[in-house]
Amino acid sequence: MSNRHEKEKSVNVQVLLRCRPFSEDEVRNNAPQVVTCNEYQREVAVSQNIAGKHIDRVFMFDKVFGPSAQQRDLYDQAIIPIVNEVLEGFNCTIFAYGQTGTGKTYTMEGECKRSKSGHNGELPPGAGVIPRAVKQIFDMLESQNAEYSVKVTFLELYNEEITDLLAPEDLSKVSAEDRQKKQLPLMEDGKGGVLVRGLEEEIVTSASEIFTLLERGSAKRRTAETLLNKQSSRSHSLFSITIHIKEATPEGEELIKCGKLNLVDLAGSENISRSGAREGRAREAGEINKSLLTLGRVISALVEHLGHVPYRDSKLTRLLRDSLGGRTKTCIIATVSPAVHCLEETLSTLDYAHRAK
Ligand code: ADP
Ligand code: MG
Repeated sequence: MSNRHEKEKSVNVQVLLRCRPFSEDEVRNNAPQVVTCNEYQREVAVSQNIAGKHIDRVFMFDKVFGPSAQQRDLYDQAIIPIVNEVLEGFNCTIFAYGQTGTGKTYTMEGECKRSKSGHNGELPPGAGVIPRAVKQIFDMLESQNAEYSVKVTFLELYNEEITDLLAPEDLSKVSAEDRQKKQLPLMEDGKGGVLVRGLEEEIVTSASEIFTLLERGSAKRRTAETLLNKQSSRSHSLFSITIHIKEATPEGEELIKCGKLNLVDLAGSENISRSGAREGRAREAGEINKSLLTLGRVISALVEHLGHVPYRDSKLTRLLRDSLGGRTKTCIIATVSPAVHCLEETLSTLDYAHRAK
């Protein structure tokens, strides 16, 4: 009993750290390595010595994935249990947090173009968390003798405005003014939740359909970026999978289990560390990433068991309200680069992620 009580009281926030390998450019330029991962001790060490300035710090996380960790390693070791919770009828959220260029999109979406070798439902090795989660969900559902439905939505949040990444229209054929109108309103649903009016909900019937949806959404994200002249590093994307499973109890009653998995590719973390330093001016320029800042505050409030959790302060946290805190599981995958030229941002990512524990 007391065990269970403790479990309910504790907050289910898990923080993982992933360090990407050196890029070809970094290898060519012999970039010094300042980050060392110790997966067994779950530690990340940052050390550097230049001109008498000495940095030596060690951070511990729930799990650490070094440069040689494959997509599958991260998924099997950290994500499978979370998706199992969703299949049990709970809401869970997985975030990728880190500096632009450190592997957030690689981790979440991965290189998941249908490969020629990808026969018989096997995933390509580069597939990230999203396609792997969808596959795990369908493998489980198809092995059961139950009725189910799987729905997905995919949206982008930029400057506190929501765009549907699955809406069918071709953005390049739409006038700038009409594009402005494509922003979808976020509304209270009257049941304590929120809904995005007009958001496309796709019913998915097999895991392979997800590749088409991901490609469509990502292509749209790129078009919008070029057309609207914005930097992708400042937008968040949210891919949500909702599962309904109809089950019969031993007494013959019907039971519907509903679980939701949110997969969030956050804006580059440099957007808060930099703007944070000169908050006044950044705010005037509309540069402050309200959703990223508020997310940090919401997670701190949950971890520290503060009474007031400021969900309402940003669109991202309003959208995720039913999937953060309470009986939900949250996983933050913090991504860093091993190279010296990213040192400052790496330290700020490690500090941020460590604080979330
Ligand atoms: P972000 O989304 O954080 O800006 P990306 O996911 O676009 O970063 O990654 C930047 C580059 O690094 C991409 O070319 C990506 O393929 C590569 N990359 C990132 N993480 C890894 C990894 N763990 N293994 C191999 N390549 C990676
Ligand atoms: Mg990205």
